[in-house]
Amino acid sequence: MSSDSYKNRYYSKQKYEAAIETLGCGFVFLFVAILSLFFLAFNFDFIGLKSWGYWLFIPAFFIMLGGVQQYYTNNKFQKAVRVAILDRSNQGAHKLEDIALEVGIKPRDVLKVLIDLRQKGFIKYRFNSETGEIILGEKVAYVKSEEYVVPPKKLSEPLETAGKGYCVYCGHQLPSEGNFCENCGSKI
Ligand SMILES: [Zn+2]
Repeated sequence: MSSDSYKNRYYSKQKYEAAIETLGCGFVFLFVAILSLFFLAFNFDFIGLKSWGYWLFIPAFFIMLGGVQQYYTNNKFQKAVRVAILDRSNQGAHKLEDIALEVGIKPRDVLKVLIDLRQKGFIKYRFNSETGEIILGEKVAYVKSEEYVVPPKKLSEPLETAGKGYCVYCGHQLPSEGNFCENCGSKI
């Protein structure tokens, strides 16, 4: 299959991202809103909170709703990827795009799900350093380079990897040859 055949394929518009920050933010709003009710009850004045604090119940509700939805999306993605891996009997070499097509989740989100599942100990895999394919059932011996600095979360362009003996994305020490990081699958 050429990579062109992937172009018109439908991927879920939902994203895989941590729900915990959103939920935490919702809890802060909820806490202050409840606090304002106590201030009202005991007639305690702090920046006038007792007179307007109850309005915070509205954002608290919607922010927490968003967090809960994200939580369910993440669970759904994790289940779909685990099923795809079970279908492959947890072995063999597979293209990330093929798994992404099957589950209808964008490849970069599938990568995030894979990392999470590996960290939780549900699955084992490494990347083929020549082809970038995912090899299921094989472990990677992660060796962190001492020179590694964690990159910023949002990158406008790929990081410079030439001449460095380690993956600039995850810090894994690289063998002298290869096009992909064995640990995180980044192109190097
Ligand atoms: Zn890496």
